[in-house]
Amino acid sequence: MWPYYETIQKKAHDGIFHHYASLGIHPDPVTKQLDITATYDGSWRKRGHTSHFYTALVFDDETGIIIDYEVICSFCFVCSTKKKISQEEWNIWYKSHKPKCHKNLDGTPAAMEAAAVVKLWTRSTNHNFCCVSIVSDGDSSAYKAVCKLNHGCGPYETPVQEEQYVNHVAKRLGTHLRKLKQDDFTVIMTRTGKKMKCRVLGGAKS
Ligand SMILES: [Zn+2]
Repeated sequence: MWPYYETIQKKAHDGIFHHYASLGIHPDPVTKQLDITATYDGSWRKRGHTSHFYTALVFDDETGIIIDYEVICSFCFVCSTKKKISQEEWNIWYKSHKPKCHKNLDGTPAAMEAAAVVKLWTRSTNHNFCCVSIVSDGDSSAYKAVCKLNHGCGPYETPVQEEQYVNHVAKRLGTHLRKLKQDDFTVIMTRTGKKMKCRVLGGAKS
């Protein structure tokens, strides 16, 4: 990892600890670790489950400060140019290439999310954070991957809890409000005697 990034990351972490201290919340005196609620999200380079690249972020829910990130890559261009060499030649060549190889997952795009969340939660204690609550998107695959760590015991001594994703709630709420606006109407009689539907709820057209 680049020294510049480490400096920025250290400042970010200090900012989180400082904020919690101002609220009277301090790290565990023995482990020096701070329990936080973390939001996790990630994105593939392209849609359609064909992407070779996935980036993930985990940030503290209280401050919005990024704690850590991970890039998952299932493709290396340099490796792809060596497909025609024998297995023996490959083994020799790959030994020297391995430290520089961009590929860090031999799996499907769907497996990338789990791989990223496992890495992030496993090393969270290295940064003195215990992300004891996870806020993620609706399918909960990130949460399930965290819970499976250490043979189903999770990454910490206490189990990680799941909280609902605010955007997920907002999306569902929006859908229901639009439906309510669509369905909620009354029938009125015009001056010419025609019946017409009149919506009870206003707001932007959808
Ligand atoms: Zn490679």
